[in-house]
Amino acid sequence: MNIVKTVLLVCIVLSLTSCATSKFSANKYNPKITASNWTDESQIEVGQPNIIVDSLGNITGIPAKILLLNPKIENHNISPETVKIIEKYIDYNSEQMKDTKIRINQFTPVGEFKRLVKNKKVQWWWRVFPGIPTTMFSLTGRLIGGDHYNPYTDTINIYSDVPSVALHESGHAVDFSEHAKEGTAGIYAVGRILTPVTLYQEHVASEEAINYLKETKDREGEKEAYKTLYPAGGTYVGGATGIPFGSAVGAAAGHIVGVTPRKNREKAFEVYDNALWSDDIISEEELMLSDETRGILEGLKKSKANSAQSN
Ligand SMILES: [Zn+2]
Repeated sequence: MNIVKTVLLVCIVLSLTSCATSKFSANKYNPKITASNWTDESQIEVGQPNIIVDSLGNITGIPAKILLLNPKIENHNISPETVKIIEKYIDYNSEQMKDTKIRINQFTPVGEFKRLVKNKKVQWWWRVFPGIPTTMFSLTGRLIGGDHYNPYTDTINIYSDVPSVALHESGHAVDFSEHAKEGTAGIYAVGRILTPVTLYQEHVASEEAINYLKETKDREGEKEAYKTLYPAGGTYVGGATGIPFGSAVGAAAGHIVGVTPRKNREKAFEVYDNALWSDDIISEEELMLSDETRGILEGLKKSKANSAQSN
């Protein structure tokens, strides 16, 4: 099915089911107005739940749920907890994300085309092509698409109730803003459709998400990220190889590859916790676990020494 037919179908379905979108559903989540330039609207908007459209979206998301082994992928039912994690991330990167819009399971054609016109960070010719078809395709997300970032409108679209996925998409927005600062936002945007560049951009966004989880010491979030973002990255790599069922093979490989960093971090947390509560000298063997563990322990030793000094 080509893009035009898809968009038409989506428009018909959505209009038939009167899929209104709310500026924000204050009754449910009350997403706040985050950055200073969001004076007349909320930076985060949540779509009005629509049982028909959301159920269909949930069904079209089954392959993604299977690939990532997570029923919350593309479930079109985002919890307040996930929205809060996004809010926290925006606060953390308030400067980089000050212009970014976050649409949670929302279908807003007029709003998105307005943003396409206004997003001067990307040169107008790139916004015409590939910006217009990209934005049209982006609008199908509520029904047939996955979570994604649209650089032409600087909008994050979330359909999964999975924090690491939301952070990964937000990571794209931060990466985009860094490019915008250098005047290369257009190149970033076009890079989204050039496979080798896309793979690199995916890597950067996932690294950004994982580093944020490390910095904020969100252990559960970090462990979940290895389980989700590695296989998700694998689908891109596998798909790019052009082999049959490349995405599935890539996802499976990602599930396997993600085990090692997760186990390493679990071990690091354990060593850290033990070191925190005991005066035992940390053995060479423990120090050799990984550079990362060593870094954590060296930091810990220093802070212990500092507090001993100040005592
Ligand atoms: Zn991505």
